[in-house]
Amino acid sequence: MSYSLPIHLLRQHLFCPRVPWFQELLDFRPPQTQWVRQGMEFHQRQKEIFRHRTLKRFGLHAARRHFHYRVRSKHWRLHGVVDCVLETKHEVFAVEIKLAGRSPSRGSILQVAAYGMLLPETIGKPCRKAFVVLQRRGKTWPVTIDAKRINEVERVRDQIFANLHAARFPDSPATEAQCCQCEYLNYCNDRA
Ligand code: SF4
Repeated sequence: MSYSLPIHLLRQHLFCPRVPWFQELLDFRPPQTQWVRQGMEFHQRQKEIFRHRTLKRFGLHAARRHFHYRVRSKHWRLHGVVDCVLETKHEVFAVEIKLAGRSPSRGSILQVAAYGMLLPETIGKPCRKAFVVLQRRGKTWPVTIDAKRINEVERVRDQIFANLHAARFPDSPATEAQCCQCEYLNYCNDRA
């Protein structure tokens, strides 16, 4: 079976192309720092709150909610776990919950779009729209899944495949500010 990429690496790659290299090629994940652990616990609590929230923010009256929904596709060569899937009678919507940020990053948009691309194969209903929920700001950001977006997801996925295949440590455009918040800082020789 051909290699399948974890979808969250689309976002990680756009943050820094070295992260997929560390995780997929070297199978290396540094021990979690305390702030990462706290962030994950907070994220989990936010998801619990989200369970009881109304669907109005998605423009829906009724929908089944599936949390931590697994998706995998041989066709797209991608797999992952969706924070929440909203299922109505005729269609489905992928939802990704983010804690911080004023607006979703390009990486978060492509991540949730990729989840949406895989959902029809798993659930058997079309997915034309996804959402990024920015919890701290109480905002819901719709993401259209159209041909242009799908192309973009494929382009980034293929860049990652190419980097992994090239067997050369990727150059990184990451700024000092990005490196300072990166868990791989101690493992990148060319960064302070
Ligand atoms: S420390 Fe900087 S260059 Fe190294 S992986 Fe992190 S973001 Fe990329």
